[in-house]
Amino acid sequence: MLQKILALFRMNILIFALLSITVITVLVYRNGMDKIYNINLANYPYVIPTTDSVDGGQSAISMARTDSSIIIDYELKEGYPYPYAGVQIYLGDGKSQGKNFAEYDSIFLWLKPRGEGSVRLYLRGWDSAISKVEEPTSLKFNELEFFPLDETYPAVFVPEEFRVAGWWVAQHNVNVHRARVDLSNIPLIEIQTGTAAPLGYGTLEIKGISFKGKIVSELKVATILVSIWFITFFIILVIRFLDYSREHAANKRKREELEKNLKALEIEKADFEKLSKEDPLTGCLNRAGFTSVLTREQERLNKQGHPVSFVILDIDHFKDINDTYGHTTGDDVLSNLSKLIQSKIRNSDVLVRWGGEEFVILCGDTPLQNAQFLAEKLRQAIESAELIPERKITCSFGVAEMIPDEDAKKLFDRADKALYASKESGRNRVTSASFKKTK
Ligand code: GH3
Ligand code: MG
Ligand code: MG
Repeated sequence: MLQKILALFRMNILIFALLSITVITVLVYRNGMDKIYNINLANYPYVIPTTDSVDGGQSAISMARTDSSIIIDYELKEGYPYPYAGVQIYLGDGKSQGKNFAEYDSIFLWLKPRGEGSVRLYLRGWDSAISKVEEPTSLKFNELEFFPLDETYPAVFVPEEFRVAGWWVAQHNVNVHRARVDLSNIPLIEIQTGTAAPLGYGTLEIKGISFKGKIVSELKVATILVSIWFITFFIILVIRFLDYSREHAANKRKREELEKNLKALEIEKADFEKLSKEDPLTGCLNRAGFTSVLTREQERLNKQGHPVSFVILDIDHFKDINDTYGHTTGDDVLSNLSKLIQSKIRNSDVLVRWGGEEFVILCGDTPLQNAQFLAEKLRQAIESAELIPERKITCSFGVAEMIPDEDAKKLFDRADKALYASKESGRNRVTSASFKKTK
């Protein structure tokens, strides 16, 4: 139980840790992990002023740097159909190797105009399929046009606000799939007056331009977090499976051990049962073991009329044998006598050590006469046997046949009386109890 609570606690801690990691990651990602590319025009060397004069126009321009910005004064004059003036900011080699802005998500432009009118921002892209180094207009015109007076300072743009100039697409016969905004290689940024700029004098003060993005993409962060969750749950699953297997194996071992113990106990029980019914000295049944046999024979007699007889025998002067030759020899007599009797009776006859030097033979299917005959046979065999070398052994016998429905105790009494009679009349003889059938 305690272990289960601990496991649950551990699991909750793990889930809490996962949640914390996720929340912290999201917070850190939202508020940090920024990458910024900053162009400060006050000291950026690769800035040059430009006007429509390169296209055959008449507009004029002058550029001055202050401590914190550049200031361009221009005069837009008629001449070129779309007069303009502005600056070119070169990045990388300024031709085909520019800067990758594809992974930035916002663009800040510090620009202050004097007077109204629109301004264009070009992020000129190198497209290996279209652009040529010797042809500057072949750099893709990723453009946006805005009115600085309507914007915040700095003005903030996102890449999605750019589009590719339609005239450039038409002029270069650009395939529709390549006509998309592409900020992955920008060698040139242009900031210049837009279509809505009025003719005449104007000023633009530009501090700089910044690109802001994240060190890692949102998708990557999400993928990493989901992976961490997935791996953690996988590990939990594996640990749980291992725990379960271990528990299962332990239970199996315990069960096997219990089964083994049970078997051992059963064997022990059987041994005890056998021992409790057996006389250890002679190996014969004892009185306890005899009860079930007697009950069986009584039933056979009562139900089927099979005759049952009893032979009870007692060693003559056994005390004297003990006294003369010792108790061990006395034991030998008992053991040898039981062996001798066993060898002379039928398998179905049951020999019981009744106590001390007294034995009982239960003879199934045996009427009194036959039992008497058996007793006589045994008496002679014992008399002539050499149970111990030192001395002849004799036994006295009492024989009785069981009367149907007779109480066992009465039957023993009758047999015992017959035995007593044998003892009384000189021992080493067989006496039968009278047998009167009641039905
Ligand atoms: P009786 O002819 O009248 O039967 O005389 P007995 O001496 O045989 O009879 P008694 O009852 O006086 O003596 C029986 C003896 O049997 C006494 C006892 O010590 C001995 N005895 C009983 N059980 C054992 C046994 O297991 N081993 C040995 N060695 N002697 C036993
Ligand atoms: Mg006796
Ligand atoms: Mg005796």
